[in-house]
Amino acid sequence: RTLQVDLGERSYPIYIGGGLLSQAGDYFARHGLSAKSPVLIVTDDNVAPLHLKQVEESLRQAGYSTVVKIVPAGEKSKSLDVFEDVMTAAIEGGLDRKSAVVALGGGVVGDLAGFVAASYMRGVPFVQMPTTILAHDSSVGGKVAVNHRLAKNMIGAFYQPEMVLYDVDTLQTLPEREVRAGLAEVVKHGLIWDEAFTSWCREHTAELLALDPEALGYALTKGCEIKAHVVSRDERENGLRAILNLGHTIGHAIEAIAGYGEYLHGEAISIGMAAAALISVNRGADRSLYEETTSILRGFGLPTIMPEQLDEDKIIGAMMHDKKFKEQQLVFILPKSIGKVEIVSDVKVEEVRRVIRELKEEG
Ligand code: NAD
Ligand code: ZN
Repeated sequence: RTLQVDLGERSYPIYIGGGLLSQAGDYFARHGLSAKSPVLIVTDDNVAPLHLKQVEESLRQAGYSTVVKIVPAGEKSKSLDVFEDVMTAAIEGGLDRKSAVVALGGGVVGDLAGFVAASYMRGVPFVQMPTTILAHDSSVGGKVAVNHRLAKNMIGAFYQPEMVLYDVDTLQTLPEREVRAGLAEVVKHGLIWDEAFTSWCREHTAELLALDPEALGYALTKGCEIKAHVVSRDERENGLRAILNLGHTIGHAIEAIAGYGEYLHGEAISIGMAAAALISVNRGADRSLYEETTSILRGFGLPTIMPEQLDEDKIIGAMMHDKKFKEQQLVFILPKSIGKVEIVSDVKVEEVRRVIRELKEEG
């Protein structure tokens, strides 16, 4: 399957299917990437033993020389320290302006390598090779970043790849918890944009959790398509793009106060999506909106209740740090019905406190 992300001169294709990594060299040649310039492959120490060899071999067969930088797995690698390490590898490896930087891995490697690609010699070609379900989201849209000690994703850029090569075979080695968490963002794309796709996700929950290639391929194509559509209408988040943040205001707060790593991103936004639905219900929407939202998420084994140990004041405090807070009112993405959301800028702190308490009582 091929999808096109329409961004004028910065448009690029997303290829989704099986066996793509072993054809990486052909795709590079087809996209006119220079075989005279070394290619830097950035990956992590979980992904490298599983999937690196095929990429290296395929590129080598097509006449490309490769430099590999393996970073430690996990969010900690999205740091300026590791960014500098990757830069060192790029310089020592002799990368030039026509060299491509490849991100082989999940969202961490994608965001890190993307920021390297955006900065090395003020920008070199970038290729995303996502290996997680969550990365269907992070590999589309051009946001690349590393974290600052004080704030996540604080140092970054908008930088679009030349192409995304999404080999769904790599997903077979994902730990089950990562599968569930990644599917939370797939469901999110349904909830914000497409009622029929949301129903499809509910009906194919078992196949998706079993990593059925046909079902996965469809779901990831649909998820990428929705994200690409939204991003192509609003590349720099001046308006519409904000709807992609459904569940993220509370989700980010949960991630921050529980300590990064305690909840996977997908788990935290699952609770956040339940909370957003409940805010809508408290504002007059039919309660079935909340029931349906949470039943889909629970079907994927995702959490939808607020853990008792997460302190209400701390959650609110963490949300205040969020970029979307203005004068005691919060900008929230709230569902109107399954598949439709609205950007609401007058959510009161008290409304959020109320759903935090209500979601704790559900437990
Ligand atoms: P990740 O990259 O840390 O991957 C999750 C875990 O799975 C890691 O331990 C990794 O080593 C392992 N892994 C990856 N692929 C594997 C495979 N095929 N087999 C076995 N193990 C594998 O995390 P993620 O969930 O992919 O991404 C999270 C990151 O993405 C966060 O930093 C988040 O900020 C970022 N993100 C960015 C955007 C964006 O628009 N740029 C959007 C959403 C999320
Ligand atoms: Zn997200």
